[in-house]
Amino acid sequence: MKLNTHALRYLTHDDWRVLAAVEQGSKNHEVVPTPLIIQISGLRGASGVNRAISTLAKNDLIAKVKNAKYDGYRLTYGGLDYLALHAFIKRKSAYSVGNQIGIGKESDIFVIADDSGTQRVLKIHRLGRISFRAVKNQRDYLRKRNSASWMYMSRLAAEREYSFMKILYDNDFPVPRPIDQARHCIVMEMIDEFPLRTADVTDPAPLYKKLMDLILKFASQGLIHGDFNEFNILVRKETQEPVVIDFPQMISINHPNAKDQFERDVECIKTFFHKKYRYTADDEGPFWEDVERVGTLDALAEASGISKKQAKELEKYLAEVAAKGEEELELEGSDDEEEDSEEEDDEEEEDGQDKPVHEGDEKSSR
Ligand code: ADP
Ligand code: MG
Repeated sequence: MKLNTHALRYLTHDDWRVLAAVEQGSKNHEVVPTPLIIQISGLRGASGVNRAISTLAKNDLIAKVKNAKYDGYRLTYGGLDYLALHAFIKRKSAYSVGNQIGIGKESDIFVIADDSGTQRVLKIHRLGRISFRAVKNQRDYLRKRNSASWMYMSRLAAEREYSFMKILYDNDFPVPRPIDQARHCIVMEMIDEFPLRTADVTDPAPLYKKLMDLILKFASQGLIHGDFNEFNILVRKETQEPVVIDFPQMISINHPNAKDQFERDVECIKTFFHKKYRYTADDEGPFWEDVERVGTLDALAEASGISKKQAKELEKYLAEVAAKGEEELELEGSDDEEEDSEEEDDEEEEDGQDKPVHEGDEKSSR
């Protein structure tokens, strides 16, 4: 999805208040009635609020929804992105936004910079943009969700990923340094290296061993990555050290699927090394029985993270997506987000994509 940052610096204090009011109203209302927006914003005078509403709608940060009962607005993903970026900018976690470097099934990845020009990575979680083409009826619980509940799930994914990253980083696992989290977004250290899939691997044997040891090290701390593959492992060119990313689906070793996911992680690496390097290790392991529990980082994650019920809901969704082959999944364009809105297209908005918040601030090398 696009991240058009051009209005970010020009919104007024009132605009932000009104945007935050629409977000807050969305918790209880699919469509937030205008009088409620006025009330939550706490601004004096409806005319100021109406002006803000019109600015926000013009920039696709909120969208007008007409239904039989009343008119109102809902927050768009663009609006949620702005709220998160605004928080990052205020906390000095971000200063400018550069190029998009990744688009996953469930996220958009951008290079950003802090105010000293140091590059960082912004991961925006976007759950729910996948539709399940092949299977219709069984997926009702996913299809029935509205955009507000997808935003909520995306926020859960970001919170969960951030708390795992912090715990892993603090315990010397090779993961990017987590810097900040707001709403459905994470800011983290940028690892300027290629993923294993395309990395320049000088000798597969030692890297293979490091990766298998790492799976065991995760498990010994009670954690199963669950998506340990050539896309989620970056390889440092100089040292051939792996750096692991992508954690929302991580589970505790006590989870009913832990053994399956552990074995799948091992299998993924085996298959990749065999396919790409024709490399097969003499040691057939590691096996589930090899796991020696030495710590309880899973319990720590549980305690610091989101509630059990929320984690379950998120897990159910992530497992559903992971179980589907790519061919059954369809990326939905950002357009359909507006399907029930009245927002007319504003053509000059189209080309603002990928521009730094301040032009010339940022040159990404990738
Ligand atoms: P998804 O959940 O969509 O798979 P990932 O966290 O795996 O998202 O990120 C997608 C891609 O973005 C990665 O394969 C990698 O190329 C790039 N990426 C993500 N995080 C970083 C980072 N911290 N440093 C450098 N590249 C990153
Ligand atoms: Mg990934």
